[in-house]
Amino acid sequence: MTATAAPRIAFPVERVRADFPSLAVAMRGKPLAYLDSAATSLKPRCVLDTVAEYYGPKYGTVRRGVYGLSEKATAAFEGAREKVARFLGAPGPGNIVFTKGTTEAINLVASSWGRTRVQAGDRILVTAMEHHANIVPWQLLCREKGAHLDVLPMNAAGELEMERLPGLLDRRTRLVAVAGISNALGTVNPVREIARQAHEAGALVLVDAAQMVAHARVDVADLGCDFLAFSGHKLFGPCGVGVLYGKAEILESMPPYQGGGDMIQTVTFEKTTFAEVPRRFEAGTPAIVEVIGLGTAIDYVRRLGIDAIGAHDAELLEYGTRLLEEIPGLSFTGTARRKAGILAFVLSGVHPHDIGSVLDQEGIAIRAGHHCAQPVMQFFGVAATARASLSIYNTRDDLDRLAAGLRKVVALFR
Ligand code: PLP
Repeated sequence: MTATAAPRIAFPVERVRADFPSLAVAMRGKPLAYLDSAATSLKPRCVLDTVAEYYGPKYGTVRRGVYGLSEKATAAFEGAREKVARFLGAPGPGNIVFTKGTTEAINLVASSWGRTRVQAGDRILVTAMEHHANIVPWQLLCREKGAHLDVLPMNAAGELEMERLPGLLDRRTRLVAVAGISNALGTVNPVREIARQAHEAGALVLVDAAQMVAHARVDVADLGCDFLAFSGHKLFGPCGVGVLYGKAEILESMPPYQGGGDMIQTVTFEKTTFAEVPRRFEAGTPAIVEVIGLGTAIDYVRRLGIDAIGAHDAELLEYGTRLLEEIPGLSFTGTARRKAGILAFVLSGVHPHDIGSVLDQEGIAIRAGHHCAQPVMQFFGVAATARASLSIYNTRDDLDRLAAGLRKVVALFR
């Protein structure tokens, strides 16, 4: 297996580590080796400071207040929308809808766009390696509408069988929903090519970028997608905030998803008219402070440079792969030629939860389970896998400790 090719750029990992207070805390009396960033990333001090500031002296509601605190909070909130738009290469802030996370963003598209555009006999195409968040909303929609859910298969390496794509795209395919990077396997998917073929067939494309944003450059124009979703908490930002990017003409054609305050123009008992996009999709008081915190997280990532982050990730992935290959009885799930950030594996004769528990005693945090991707587990014929996921604050030392911990597991369970 080879990691995604990326230029070698010296990465200031020790300086980055100093930005993350969580890394100063011991786990089980040992320094923390945090290898679960695919689940949620740690937070740098600048994000914690923003959150404290905007829940503290700068706290105010947005959009409604006519007083200074509220005006300033509104400016910071809308400023974060502009930062997200620039980060994604979107035309402008009008393309950015704030949601609770990736899951809510995908549900928004399925409910609003899907309910009005998908009819009986239509088809939605997902891939064999999607997170449940990019399967279940489409299943619900298909069930409601009498539409069909198709699946683009993958091979034993965890790579999409692209030669099967043309046969799965037909004139009834309304949307292709694909993860940029698989959370269970680490596969980097050929999103641009999928989007090209989908558009030729007249389908729209939604990219689940939950794992992509913290590992690779995401440019919606370059990817050619119609929708893109991600979560703030996987991008060093707060929990409870996420983003839906949508092409303007598509968002504008979509009806509201939820009703309430902030998403209206006028309300009478007879009739309600709705606000412009993106407010039409942001009913109720938003996660004000979390959105502003996400803006700070994006500033932080941009300062580090996404290409430098990608190179650091590739270097660690290659190193970790070599180390883990030497562990007796270990086999990887996911050996794609283009991978990022994830080492998922099983150890013969040892349940992944036992691996996780032994490593926990060593101060090493990994994830063990189905990773909300049960079809991937079914494909590989396992109930669960162990997953070490990499981020900007990980070092070769973390991976050396992981390998040493796994040797302990092997010794204990053999
Ligand atoms: N999609 C992928 C690829 C993910 O990895 C995750 C979370 O692990 C999600 C979607 C769901 O994200 P959230 O739970 O933040 O909505």
